[in-house]
Amino acid sequence: MLTTSDVYIPVKRAHKTRLKEVDWDNLELGAYTSDHMLVCDYSDGRWQTPEIQPFGPFLLSPTTLALHYGQTVFEGLKAFRTEEGHIHIFRPDRHYERFVRTTERMCMPTPPADLFMEGLRRLVELDKDWVPGQPGTSLYLRPMLFATGTKLTVRVSDSYRFAVLCLPAGAYFGRPLRVKVERNFVRAVRGGTGYAKCGGNYGGAFYPTQEARSEGYDQVIWTDGIQHRYLEEMGMMNIFCVINGALVTPPLGDSLLDGITRDSLLTLALSAGLTVEERPVTVEELREGLERGNVEEVFGAGTAAVVAPIETIGIDGINYSLAIAGAGEKSVALFLKQELDAIRYGRKPDKYGWNKYIY
Ligand SMILES: *Cc1c(COP(=O)(O)O)cnc(C)c1O
Repeated sequence: MLTTSDVYIPVKRAHKTRLKEVDWDNLELGAYTSDHMLVCDYSDGRWQTPEIQPFGPFLLSPTTLALHYGQTVFEGLKAFRTEEGHIHIFRPDRHYERFVRTTERMCMPTPPADLFMEGLRRLVELDKDWVPGQPGTSLYLRPMLFATGTKLTVRVSDSYRFAVLCLPAGAYFGRPLRVKVERNFVRAVRGGTGYAKCGGNYGGAFYPTQEARSEGYDQVIWTDGIQHRYLEEMGMMNIFCVINGALVTPPLGDSLLDGITRDSLLTLALSAGLTVEERPVTVEELREGLERGNVEEVFGAGTAAVVAPIETIGIDGINYSLAIAGAGEKSVALFLKQELDAIRYGRKPDKYGWNKYIY
């Protein structure tokens, strides 16, 4: 259970719901936001009273520090409606832990755990009708924190705004991806901010990704920033390979995101008796494995898509193909997705205590 704490969160209700405007069969993420949002400001050295209020624009000074120096961070997690109609938030405690690490790296005050947890719980409870019910759908929750100081010097802000937004998300039916191993541009490097979910990491990734798009790929696989030799991540997802039957993923470090989906899939794979290896994977190993057929699958994993299978990998100008499991065929990626979904939609017991039920 998400335990009820005594954080006081006043609610200013929207006069009118926008639920009727939603096309529930076409829930492209980003198309809709729910009726309410949580807002809590930090100023004078402390967190002020939070409020749940109607979703709407913020009024910001043009000198707002976040807009100039990028002191802005976020999280992304989901609430699910189970087949019995219960609603829960998936692993908010782990997302909070990552949020703490992110805010520390960016010299920002961390919202207290009970504000984060109780804020999410109250918000999802109030906007429960926004949690879709069709198979594969969810309510995406976007906590964000940004510097609101307005003294335009390059220094740490002394005021911040924490907000949580809710966006209904449809089932992910993406086609298998074409990706390019990036050997030139860098997303993150040792000592940098790669492990933090801070805005700048994404803004800086657009250019290489656009370049890969213009070459016919959907995404890039990032390699380490020093030698471009080791695989790190794929776009906004962690990367997994199935090599000689073993599930392999690069080890955590300060240049990649500690994905909660990554952790969940590793846990499920171990419990299903799969061989699991968290170890460095070189581009050479990937290339040879693709040539010889030892690399059976490569897929991305993250909250938005759960798993995203890859059908083509470009390495130094040569495209390698991977077989994609069709209907009725077996793949590790599909198996793990089904296991995770079974827990999240309440079809299998939640033996790890991942679902924090709201009711
Ligand atoms: C958010 C994110 C992930 C995936 O993390 P999840 O907790 O599984 O959603 C992976 N890589 C990057 C760069 C990310 O921003």
